[in-house]
Amino acid sequence: MYRTHTCGELRLTDVPNEVTLAGWVQTIRKFGSITFIDLRDRYGITQLLLGEELNKKLDDQPLGREFVLQASGTVQERSNKNPQLSTGDIEIRVKDFTILNRSAVPPFTIQDDTDGGDDLRMKYRYLDLRRNAVKRNLELRYAVNRAARNYLHEKGFMDLETPFLIRSTPEGARDFVVPSRMNPGQFYALPQSPQTFKQLLMVSGYDRYYQIVKCFRDEDLRADRQPEFTQIDCEMCFVEQEDILRMFEGMIKAIFKDVKGIDYTEPVERMSWEEAMWNYGNDKPDIRFDMKLTNLKSPLKKEGVQRATGELIGGAGFGVFDNAETVVAIAVPGASEYTRKQTDEITDWVKRPQIGMQGLVTIKCNADGSFKSSVDKFYGPEKLQAIAASCEAKPGDLILILAGREERTRKAISELRLEMGERLGMRKKDEFRLLWVLDFPLFEWAEEEGQPGRWVARHHPFTSPKPSDIDTMISNSPQVANQEEYLQHPYAGIKANAYDMVLNGNEIGGGSIRIFQRDLQEKMFDALGMSREEARHKFGFLLGAFEYGAPPHGGIAFGFDRLCAILGGSESIRDFIAFPKNNSGRDVMLDAPSTIDAHQFSELQIKLDLK
Ligand code: ASP
Repeated sequence: MYRTHTCGELRLTDVPNEVTLAGWVQTIRKFGSITFIDLRDRYGITQLLLGEELNKKLDDQPLGREFVLQASGTVQERSNKNPQLSTGDIEIRVKDFTILNRSAVPPFTIQDDTDGGDDLRMKYRYLDLRRNAVKRNLELRYAVNRAARNYLHEKGFMDLETPFLIRSTPEGARDFVVPSRMNPGQFYALPQSPQTFKQLLMVSGYDRYYQIVKCFRDEDLRADRQPEFTQIDCEMCFVEQEDILRMFEGMIKAIFKDVKGIDYTEPVERMSWEEAMWNYGNDKPDIRFDMKLTNLKSPLKKEGVQRATGELIGGAGFGVFDNAETVVAIAVPGASEYTRKQTDEITDWVKRPQIGMQGLVTIKCNADGSFKSSVDKFYGPEKLQAIAASCEAKPGDLILILAGREERTRKAISELRLEMGERLGMRKKDEFRLLWVLDFPLFEWAEEEGQPGRWVARHHPFTSPKPSDIDTMISNSPQVANQEEYLQHPYAGIKANAYDMVLNGNEIGGGSIRIFQRDLQEKMFDALGMSREEARHKFGFLLGAFEYGAPPHGGIAFGFDRLCAILGGSESIRDFIAFPKNNSGRDVMLDAPSTIDAHQFSELQIKLDLK
């Protein structure tokens, strides 16, 4: 037997038992004739005390960091207790030890505060994984996995596997492809999600499906994305949107409870996509803090709002506002005392290329009710007061205003809102606020350089329109006569039966009620400019299945890695993946991707023609 206990297990109540432990040598400290060793395994650290009688053996068989050691001895009370360790009250007075394996000197210290840089730790990820900090993250990941499984199992969901070697799926990213040796010149695609399979399973009558599953998308890796990532993927039959929302807020709440001990009893808030865009400038608002946008001027229509505020800032001779398509403001609570240096810093922040604004207008709402603005020349006290009132700013607030093109400005102010929330400590890591964003547009208008504009599915082409919009979809042609006028086209107003779950400003899940009627599905493909032939070629199996009694169905998928990262209080999903890839999609430990042998190319009948 290698061990009687783990290194995290022994307590004062075990004194004076005889035990055997096995683990890795974390540290060795010599005090005169006595040697202390911290022995580590997955469960903790236990101090070993080796007396004088073992010195000869230690000289003959010197130990080093990360050696695998087995030690037997007696549990005794420690004179110098360590309250930081769960085993800190005891130590093992070692009678004998065996070196089970030796270790080369590790390239970095395997401790909470390691001296290893990112690249080095990724190269030796198997050593990095021994560190407590990483281990805690993987434990949390497993806890989330278990909580989700328990909940779904209890609700009657079946975990059904779906294949990885498939043909293209409809999530709209680029596919990873795998050449087929047995079918020369042909390729499998790796699934961007199990979307079509889970819909087929519904047709087959498995009315509650889930899978915690890898998905593959060959996208440029914007900050904190992975080419392969994990989803909690779910689908249900005979459901409407409301059924899905209830089922899956139940799941997230169960995860909160099991993993974090949080009783999230209040109902999950709901917000329409339009409200989210209008009030927060993006479709995944962080509602842990308020600071809503005030739309002083915008080409978008939102009944009874934008016209009035536009009047406040127009015609004062301030060209920046007069010429801008959009002017938006936030009132930052309690920031009126910001110094010139601080406001300059924020101005520099919005001018960064990632934000891309020309400048920032500020209005300080002083505690005495007066105003001080960077545009005092154009706006007298009354106008400033009126602007402040429309921003619902209070004395002590600092109003920040951006102006420019609609899309960019709205995006910029939404980033600025988050940045100010961060600076003011309003985005607390241990506070969790869930939100459903609903009523997304079904279509988006996409314009690529040199191409005519076209409708694309905002979610994916199997997402159904709201029942009340089905007629509009069926009875109108998707043709847009004039490029500029797509906003007036009836399709622009069609809402999707789709929903996103947002946690602290991150989209953690999304899904939809699906189209299950063949004619509506074909109309959808028409709208997306996909010919009948192309649709049949790509998704013929699904359209075929829809001929044989497809039930009404819908589903959702949660980004498992992201959910873990947020629950673990981290920005980075990489910390929650045992073997992640770096920002260029490389596994630096395996050195993958890599070239393959000449005979593999020849078996595949593939010749490289690298540009
Ligand atoms: N397949 C979708 C996705 O991966 C989710 C869903 O519609 O269920 O985003």
